[in-house]
Amino acid sequence: MTANPLLLCLVLLAQLSAQNAFGSDAYTPSVIPTFKEMTPMSAEEALLSDAFNDDLYAESQNFSENAYWHKLTFPKTTTQENTQNLYLTLSYFIIEHLDFYLFHDEQLISHWKRGALQDWGEDNSHYKGIWIPITLSDQHSTSLIIRKQGNHPLLTPIKLMDGTTAAEQTTHKLIFWTFIISTLTILLIYNIFLFALLKQPGFIYYLGLNLIIFVSLSALTGFNRWIFSQTLSQWITTNLFVVFGLGAWILFRFSMHFLKDIQIPAPNAFLKKYGDWLFITFLLSTQVFSVKTFALFFAFIEIFLFFICIAWGIKAYKKGFLPVRFYLFSWFFLLTGSILNTFIFWKILPITPVTESIFPIACILQLLGFAFAFADKAKQMERDRRTQALTDLTTQLPNRAYYFDMLPSQIQKQGLSDQKLALVMIDLTNHQTLSQAFGPAKADGAMCDIILKLHQQTQTMEGLLSFSLANKKTTTLIRMTTKKIIFISTHPDALKTQIQQIQNTLDHPTRVNKVHFRHQYKIGSALYPSQGADLDKLYQHALIAKDSVTYSSGHWLPFTDNLKNNHAHQLRLITLLTEDIERDILYFDIQPQVDLLTNNITGGEVLIRWNNVHMGQVSPSEFIPLAEQTGLIYKLTDKLLESVFLWASQHPKALSTQRLSINISALDLLQENFANRILELLDKQQLAASKFTIEITETSVFQNNAVVHNNVKQLHQAGFKLSIDDFGVGYSSMQNLVALETDELKIDRFFIMNLLDDAQSQILSRNMIDLSKALNITSVAEGIESEGILQLLKSWHCQVGQGYHLYRPMSPTDYLTLLDKTVPPLSAPTNRA
Ligand code: C2E
Ligand code: MG
Ligand code: MG
Repeated sequence: MTANPLLLCLVLLAQLSAQNAFGSDAYTPSVIPTFKEMTPMSAEEALLSDAFNDDLYAESQNFSENAYWHKLTFPKTTTQENTQNLYLTLSYFIIEHLDFYLFHDEQLISHWKRGALQDWGEDNSHYKGIWIPITLSDQHSTSLIIRKQGNHPLLTPIKLMDGTTAAEQTTHKLIFWTFIISTLTILLIYNIFLFALLKQPGFIYYLGLNLIIFVSLSALTGFNRWIFSQTLSQWITTNLFVVFGLGAWILFRFSMHFLKDIQIPAPNAFLKKYGDWLFITFLLSTQVFSVKTFALFFAFIEIFLFFICIAWGIKAYKKGFLPVRFYLFSWFFLLTGSILNTFIFWKILPITPVTESIFPIACILQLLGFAFAFADKAKQMERDRRTQALTDLTTQLPNRAYYFDMLPSQIQKQGLSDQKLALVMIDLTNHQTLSQAFGPAKADGAMCDIILKLHQQTQTMEGLLSFSLANKKTTTLIRMTTKKIIFISTHPDALKTQIQQIQNTLDHPTRVNKVHFRHQYKIGSALYPSQGADLDKLYQHALIAKDSVTYSSGHWLPFTDNLKNNHAHQLRLITLLTEDIERDILYFDIQPQVDLLTNNITGGEVLIRWNNVHMGQVSPSEFIPLAEQTGLIYKLTDKLLESVFLWASQHPKALSTQRLSINISALDLLQENFANRILELLDKQQLAASKFTIEITETSVFQNNAVVHNNVKQLHQAGFKLSIDDFGVGYSSMQNLVALETDELKIDRFFIMNLLDDAQSQILSRNMIDLSKALNITSVAEGIESEGILQLLKSWHCQVGQGYHLYRPMSPTDYLTLLDKTVPPLSAPTNRA
């Protein structure tokens, strides 16, 4: 606490320079004759003792249990002299026992007891300090005998003064100390209210500090006798070092709390862990060791605390924690107060009412400094809290709340209300798949990385609106959700170029867990004010545009009124799909696959079909992504597998020499018990797994994923073949092809359909066929729409073909009829897959 280092100086210096411990008053002798009491004696005996000796005075001012006698003698006064009364004063009250005896020659005139532990009875003039009136006589010489006893040093100088000065000083002191104590009282009461109001955890330490300063200052000035009961006052006096120790501890905890938010000291710092024990040890030592010993301990603790707190403060300031300015000011006052006080006790500064007030004023300034620091910190925290509420924690970009609460006024302030703007929304759609593949933390990390990358890019782009945050930072992106970001173009005419730039970054392959993949995303945009006069509408329309990307070929769709209708259409589809899955309305077709060498049917691909009463036939490329988005896919896969297996078991012919390929969503394989479930269903129909191929797309997130790995391993072991569908589009990597121990590679129909006109498709398709051969994987070409394509593929030795030119998808019944027609009952198996 504030008084502590000061007291340390007092204690140490009083011992070092006790012989100097007198005021500079003209009446005050610098050394008082003294002797140590060996056997109990009366004042009269002491008066006559010839043991008084100047040399013992210094010793008497040290810590000691012994009683010492002091003697001050005054000559007879002459009647002309007007100073008949002198006053002797001690300002502090912590000496345990003090007896003052006034003699005229050998006659005892008065006896006062004024020690800290003595009963002062009805005398309530304690606040004045210890004032002993010495009445001088013109008949006799006057002697004042003082008996001092107690294990406390005589900390303050003795001063002698005449009546007028004494009266003046009494009034001054009374005013001064009343001011100090009432200031502290007001501060304390105010802080108690503040604490009740703020309920900030660290404030309790500040309050404690306030209380300790109040208690120790009142003890040191004698006001404690006015404020507390005599027993309590006396306890405080005897246990002053416990009070100081508690104060130091509170100060330590206060500092730790104050600086906690900026990680000072570091969470694993020695002091953070064991600091409390240091104080507990000290407090315990006060009960075991002598005052002198623990005063020394205390000195070390104080010096240490003093330097460490200032070092922490400076470190915090360097870290940009501004409220620490007031905290450092507080320590500055304390430091100044302590140094000046040391000067007083070294006699560099004289003891005057001004110098004497340095200590209490430093205490109050320190308390005020801490109060300011606290208020400043609370303000900063409030600012941070407000910024935090409006920003995304991980990327520090403005968030959804910012968009809806702050942006409207910002746009108005920047005078953009009448300008044409465009809202662009980017949705990173592979977040869910990444989460399931690598866990939410890695998925969030990947989102964060790409968002920050995009932010860096948009910062340098022209024609984008800047968003300013409370912490004076400006950004160009707003993060609406984990995977959704937006920006606002102030030049909608350049929107195409701007989005193209963004897409270039998004299309760039990235890595998670050593797996390369390309982000999947959808971009939607809406124009202000034509497509939305407020940010709400604008957002809604950009969202609709973004969602409609699912049904388009590209990644970006600008909003149109048509899309709005489509959006409603999708919502309706989801509802109808949910109902129809439940009611088993969905069924499947089979598209035969042909061995390109022998022209035999090697098997067929099961393709799901949905014919809704209201919507008619809905394409799987329309409803499968919807089912994936809404989680309906699991139920859908389950039901499909069940009905395919049932059908196959009822028509053994379908599998006698042929196989069936079934499409599985990537999300299915990320299900923990997927393989078990499929094997269970298979078992139920007593079918051989070796007759089935599982087709999967979007394999990039599979590698290094334990769940997928286990599922694939289990399916492989059971006899299933694994096929990578739509190879060549998206980001299907060779690495994954090998890692998943693929049996079949299906070249995407996008390449096959363009084969005759597009040289690039030719190169790619040919390479994929060669690659399959090299890896001993069956190559399948889907989307063969013409004889020319078929011949080309045959000439490249592609093994299996599938497409409208060969066979269209057909009902299972037609498929069986076809098999009957094309496959002679006893023909040898021809499929290679
Ligand atoms: P896919 O697995 O690549 O299936 C091949 C798609 O190409 C089928 O479309 C098929 O009808 C079509 N196709 C076949 N030959 C030709 C051709 O010569 N020209 C053209 N233009 N198209 C051809 P479909 O049935 O519309 O299925 C679309 C996609 O929906 C499938 O692509 C597959 O990814 C998904 N899908 C179909 N059934 C299921 C299923 O049961 N479960 C899951 N998860 N997805 C399925
Ligand atoms: Mg397929
Ligand atoms: Mg395909």
